[in-house]
Amino acid sequence: MISAENTPAKSHGNGVWNGICQNAGDLHARNIIPATSFKRTVGSGSSVSFWNDTWIGDSSLASSFPRLFSLENFKECKVSDRIIGNIRAWSWRRPLRGGGGIEESQWNRLVAVLNGFMCNGNGDSWGWDLEGNNEFVVNHVRKVIERATLLGNNTKTTWNKAVPKKINIMIWRLLNDRLPVRAKLLEKGIIFNNFDCVFCDNHLETAPHLFGSCPLVRATWIKVQNWLGIDGRCDVSPESIFQWIDNSSFNKRRKTLINGCLFVCFAPSCC
Ligand SMILES: [Zn+2]
Repeated sequence: MISAENTPAKSHGNGVWNGICQNAGDLHARNIIPATSFKRTVGSGSSVSFWNDTWIGDSSLASSFPRLFSLENFKECKVSDRIIGNIRAWSWRRPLRGGGGIEESQWNRLVAVLNGFMCNGNGDSWGWDLEGNNEFVVNHVRKVIERATLLGNNTKTTWNKAVPKKINIMIWRLLNDRLPVRAKLLEKGIIFNNFDCVFCDNHLETAPHLFGSCPLVRATWIKVQNWLGIDGRCDVSPESIFQWIDNSSFNKRRKTLINGCLFVCFAPSCC
């Protein structure tokens, strides 16, 4: 779990970084972002905990080699205390036992893990490793969070900078079937009658009906497509329209403009 102890955060205060750490802790607790994605990158090793930080491999040495850690005299020792040039400087409570037991097994594995590792003269730093390149990229974080938290329908997040944020959010809710249409309210026990389409009053009000197959909406959509010059080229459901535009040969600017117009057309129905 990320915390003030294992990240460069102060233990108190309301700063931005502390806010980030608190949210990161929540993401770890919910197993959305693995705690091991935060790593120490060792330079001199003078500020990196040899046993407690994750700096080599995917977990701390204390968790990987608990028996050896229990025998360590100085559990808060730094990497630079144990690795001096190509020398390994150990401090055990007692000599390690051989004989093929757990101590010898863990010792052999620890030696293998550290094989060839040497500190250098650079400063120690923090690393972020979600995609295997030890680099923090906001887009990687967004994808990981989306994969873990959004509905599993593989709906691509569509965001249009040409229209206000609230319209983008409504379109996202529409494409992910998160709008409080009457069928949803019925399903959740919020309403018990009057759940037919607000437009035609002849069909259960679901999102696919309200934004696509309803006769009144369909007729309107055909006119909108005609106005945008894409009439007859795609179906009238929001998903198929956006997908068709995405796959079309229109340049980026035209796609943005057409999507923006459609967003604004859809949005009043979402409100
Ligand atoms: Zn209808």
